[in-house]
Amino acid sequence: MRSPSTAEKSPRSEPPGPTTDTELALGIDLGATKVVSALVARDGTVVRSGGRQVHANDGPEGVLRSLVQSVRSTLDQEPSFRIRTVGIAVAAQVDPATGTVVHAPNLNWHNVPLGARLSRELDGAPVVVVNDARAATLAEWRLGAGRGVSDLFCLILGTGVGGSAVVGNRLLEGGTHAIGEVGHITIVSGGRKCHCPNAGCLEAYVGGWAVADRAREAIGADPKAGESLLAAVGYPDQVTARTVVEAYRRGDPLAHRLIRETTQYLCDGVVSIVNAFNPDLVVLGGGFAAGMPEFARTAEGAVRLRCQPPAARARVTVGRFGENAPLVGAAEAARLGSFPGSDSGTPSG
Ligand SMILES: [Zn+2]
Repeated sequence: MRSPSTAEKSPRSEPPGPTTDTELALGIDLGATKVVSALVARDGTVVRSGGRQVHANDGPEGVLRSLVQSVRSTLDQEPSFRIRTVGIAVAAQVDPATGTVVHAPNLNWHNVPLGARLSRELDGAPVVVVNDARAATLAEWRLGAGRGVSDLFCLILGTGVGGSAVVGNRLLEGGTHAIGEVGHITIVSGGRKCHCPNAGCLEAYVGGWAVADRAREAIGADPKAGESLLAAVGYPDQVTARTVVEAYRRGDPLAHRLIRETTQYLCDGVVSIVNAFNPDLVVLGGGFAAGMPEFARTAEGAVRLRCQPPAARARVTVGRFGENAPLVGAAEAARLGSFPGSDSGTPSG
């Protein structure tokens, strides 16, 4: 999930303190348009990082080349680091037990043995492959806003909307490794067309792409009201969720209306999720949530008022890692040497 936000776009490389290589782990985040690799400290701090653009047209081998280049550029910055295990988060349905990317719609991959191929490129290092939403959840659960919580739901708000649940200290995986697609729960029957086969999905209202679509429609319907929003970017097709958040911060009335409506749809989604999963905590992750921390308080108010009484005590908070969460979670999976949602949990290599 690539994420629109006013938060930082790329991982922050912080000046490293005195570290030994055992304190660092290598994590990779492979998205639809870029790959980022990083050395991450035990507390989740990104110490070194490197990135490359990728494109679906590159094919698996081309993407793999960019991926290995990004890893090499990161390792070059920390010559004393020795890879033990690699963790990689992918925006895809993955089988963590075999390291296979089963289906990556944005990259157009089917059954790509990513773990085995990457291991071969990195001198046989074991590779743990995880879904990006579950990697983000792992990061927030073990190191971030959900630390110490045994029952939580991490709702990722980025360009798309995803999530994952920790129930009884177990990160759920699903029968076909696809649990937590709450972006595609219907919140408006017969509503806006989604990128999935359904219509009226939560993502079709609060996903970054959908917020941008709604903004463009609002500008088209009332060009005068949309002047300020449009002035910031020039052309309607340049409007993104980030544009809307920035205009909201400037007090633009149209952006305020769009954010108010987005918040309402988000609350509908969070109430349904809390009723379904009964978490103690909902963590709002991803770049959009990082840019709009107000979402958490309003959603928590909706949970108190609208959820079934036993579930209504759930807290809602913003994630610690924003859009770096998949990267940090991938490094944490590498440190663990396996993925906690995987039964066999055996890294490829
Ligand atoms: Zn959908």
